[in-house]
Amino acid sequence: MEPTSLTFRERAAAALEDPVLRTALRRLESGWQQGRARAAAALPEFEALRDAGVAIKDHVLAHLDLYLEIFERRFTEAGGVVHWARDAAEARAIALEICRKAGAKTVTKSKSMVAEEIGLNAFLEANGLRVVETDLGEYIVQLAGEVPSHLVGPAVHMTRERIAELFARHHGGPPKQESAELVAEARRILRERYLEAEVGITGANFLVAETGSIVTVTNEGNAELTQGLPRVHLVITGIEKVVPTVEDAFTLLRLLARSATGQEFSGYTTFLTGPARPDERDGPRKMHLILLDNGRSAMVGGPFREMLRCIRCGACMNHCPVYLAAGGHAYGWVYVGPMGSVLTPQFAGLERTWTLPTASTFCGRCQEVCPVRIPLPKLMRLWREEAHRRHLPPPVARYGLAAWAFLARRPALYRLATRLAIAGLGLLGRRRGRFSRLPLAAGWTASRDLPAPAGVTFHRLWKARRRNHA
Ligand code: SF4
Repeated sequence: MEPTSLTFRERAAAALEDPVLRTALRRLESGWQQGRARAAAALPEFEALRDAGVAIKDHVLAHLDLYLEIFERRFTEAGGVVHWARDAAEARAIALEICRKAGAKTVTKSKSMVAEEIGLNAFLEANGLRVVETDLGEYIVQLAGEVPSHLVGPAVHMTRERIAELFARHHGGPPKQESAELVAEARRILRERYLEAEVGITGANFLVAETGSIVTVTNEGNAELTQGLPRVHLVITGIEKVVPTVEDAFTLLRLLARSATGQEFSGYTTFLTGPARPDERDGPRKMHLILLDNGRSAMVGGPFREMLRCIRCGACMNHCPVYLAAGGHAYGWVYVGPMGSVLTPQFAGLERTWTLPTASTFCGRCQEVCPVRIPLPKLMRLWREEAHRRHLPPPVARYGLAAWAFLARRPALYRLATRLAIAGLGLLGRRRGRFSRLPLAAGWTASRDLPAPAGVTFHRLWKARRRNHA
């Protein structure tokens, strides 16, 4: 998928005018945001668990090659086949070859952000395969011809009414009124697809090095049907998903559901170790794993290394005022919200996405709620600095910042310049008490008036106040 992140501002403006999106996004605040707060408060060791999560991920990243080798050995011993993919094109080609060798016509797929990252569905479909998403949210956005707008709830931007109308158009019959009816309808159709598919594709939340297991987490059980019913199971995931032990996986699992939706644990958590054994009746006969790099190994030794701790819980976006106003589609690529503003420039190139790290108020809520304490504002600031260095923002923003930086480093000059500017604005605005238009302040005055300042800077008011107190 080509990023359209450079139009973030226009998309966000359109999103603010969309009443359906506003209703849908408000549910995140009352639902998952409050759910996380309740789950964290109910677990006294929650903060200690976060520290443990950070320690596990940092340890793995410091020894990534070692744990990947151990994992590959164990996974192969269990009967699976590992494929290493340097980039998206390689991963897509490997996936297609596996599907072709399996003689696949229909492929079922449970939610995988890595598959979104490499544009797998479009590629497989262009090569004649029928790809059916089995996660309900993913199925809905697939029918709508859209992309997911949230890590955990891909269709979180849609209301029930819109989904009912979408189902009626694709499945026939009158629009259903109740959520339960919609779920039952999707389930009936997906059950048939599970039985038709020759290959099932899933992601992996974690890879356990000591056992060679892959771990999947869902609330619908669709990953289990996707991996268990077809003859071939293909897992696609990033190299950073490996953890040393089962115990480490459980530490992160305890953080994941609480941070994502406020659940203690997700509905279905599955540890799968290799394909079905010869004496087993159920399970895939073959199991493949594509381990994708796509720039991750370069991140390990660079300034964005902490981002590789991400366990894709979505808490940062559930708490981000910009995401909650603009919605996920405004970000113009696969990863959205604060985590997307850091990852997208890495994977899709800063030239095409430099607007995303500026889509933040730097309020710090994302970092506060991130279960693995990723310093998201710091990482977004690093991208802003890099964009500035590469001259990507428009000249007015660059020169404005340069002028501000020049003044900020010279306090006496700064005080003089602000004193003159504020005195001038105070004088100009004295009659009306406000400005409805002002150069360089169009973003503010487009929707509201700017109150005229008193004509005295904050520094001088503060000084006067201290003198009076003394
Ligand atoms: S950055 Fe943190 S909060 Fe955001 S999805 Fe990743 S782990 Fe969750």
